[in-house]
Amino acid sequence: MELKDATLFRQAALVGGDWIEAGDNGIAVDNPATGEIIGRVPNLGAAETKAAIAAAEIAQKEWAARTAKERSVILRRWFQLMMDNQDDLGRILTAEQGKPLAEAKGEIAYGASFIEWFAAEARRVYGDIVPGHQKDKRILVMKQPIGVVAAITPWNFPNAMITRKAGPAFAAGCAMVLKPASQTPFSAIAIAILAERAGFPKGLFSVLTGSARAIGGEMTASPVVRKLTFTGSTEVGAELYRQSAPTIKKLGLELGGNAPFIVFDDADLDAAVEGALIAKFRNNGQTCVCANRLYVQEGVYDAFAEKLSKAVATLKTGNGLDEGINLGPLIDESALAKVEEHVADALSKGGRVVAGGHRHRLGGRFYEATVLADVTPAMAVAKEETFGPVAPLFRFKDEADVIAQANDTEFGLASYFYAKDLARVFRVAEALEYGMVGVNTGLISTAEAPFGGVKLSGLGREGSKYGIEEFTEIKYVCLGGI
Ligand code: ADP
Repeated sequence: MELKDATLFRQAALVGGDWIEAGDNGIAVDNPATGEIIGRVPNLGAAETKAAIAAAEIAQKEWAARTAKERSVILRRWFQLMMDNQDDLGRILTAEQGKPLAEAKGEIAYGASFIEWFAAEARRVYGDIVPGHQKDKRILVMKQPIGVVAAITPWNFPNAMITRKAGPAFAAGCAMVLKPASQTPFSAIAIAILAERAGFPKGLFSVLTGSARAIGGEMTASPVVRKLTFTGSTEVGAELYRQSAPTIKKLGLELGGNAPFIVFDDADLDAAVEGALIAKFRNNGQTCVCANRLYVQEGVYDAFAEKLSKAVATLKTGNGLDEGINLGPLIDESALAKVEEHVADALSKGGRVVAGGHRHRLGGRFYEATVLADVTPAMAVAKEETFGPVAPLFRFKDEADVIAQANDTEFGLASYFYAKDLARVFRVAEALEYGMVGVNTGLISTAEAPFGGVKLSGLGREGSKYGIEEFTEIKYVCLGGI
């Protein structure tokens, strides 16, 4: 890999301030665009997790004792180092994840923005003084760091899913033990190297690579870990929830979605097509906020299908390191198989391909950008997240009909709709049972806003002024004898 600073690509994990090299027995990480092995990371387990948690416990107390401004300065430096190394971090990300380099660099800027935002928020963790209930008493409410935090993150945003958790955790005065996804550990390791350079104290941030079950098992069993923050599948999230019950941990869960994207007949169709391209095809359809079901009102259905198909035909699929690529490969074979199954299922039940519909001629893990028409609720795409470049178009009659269809899912993360009528905008935004609603936009994620879902999509919010509260405990102090 050609990097300006080659030391940012390191085949090692960081445990309690000490680096453990991978050696030949480490876990191989490949480039999904080529299948080539790009490097190895250590295969760690329960013992190293225990050591990292013990080091975090010590480091956290000293970190929390610093002033908010001292923490803020170090976090701000970390943000700056990420931006100074944006190009290298983007290259590492594309090599292990596959997304186009421009998108990878965009993720670095987006990821770093959480560190920037929470560096500032560190200084605003305000408490309250509440009017007392007796003359001689005063009621104080203070917010303190929750303590040692464990984080488990996925492969679709190898940088930003970490920073969105690490930013508020460190800002609040917590320590963090992280297990990144085994498909994309090098982005996590690179930012840990930059954390050291920014002046993080030893042991405050550990990055453990290896067995998810062993590391996750130790993280959830430990009474020292007071919060577990996880982004990934609902299935694994529920398992971690169960495992965390005996130690009554606070949980932050960002799980699966099944986002509806609704186009009403009063929508600006060109804007809706542009939004659909972003909401559906960003990261090759592999984000938990990706539009999974596109509902289009009868009167504009054919026109929208045609415009979207034309736009999709201009998207270029290929190796993310090549110029002008819009869509990379899928992460692995099973992701590809799921996309194929969903398309086959839709076609067998009366669906119709209007663009794409096959594995890409490039072979490997590439799939064509696809648009399906005449999709119905009986098809798999209606219920499950496809997590690939397939846009299924459902038809609907009126507002009540589409709200019922959109809410008919056990998930509730992101939702989108395009409409101009102001009253309709309010009605629909209020009726959608989702944690997030994009109105006339396909892009909603930002450090300033609270990200999160309802129902099987998770617990808690990340980003925004609310995000830092997830990493604090409220303490009430009753002052008597005044
Ligand atoms: P995805 O579909 O995004 O791969 P997963 O939920 O399988 O979602 O993975 C998300 C993260 O959870 C990854 O870091 C993965 O290694 C980790 N993980 C998977 N299974 C477990 C488990 N049983 N315990 C702890 N972590 C797990």
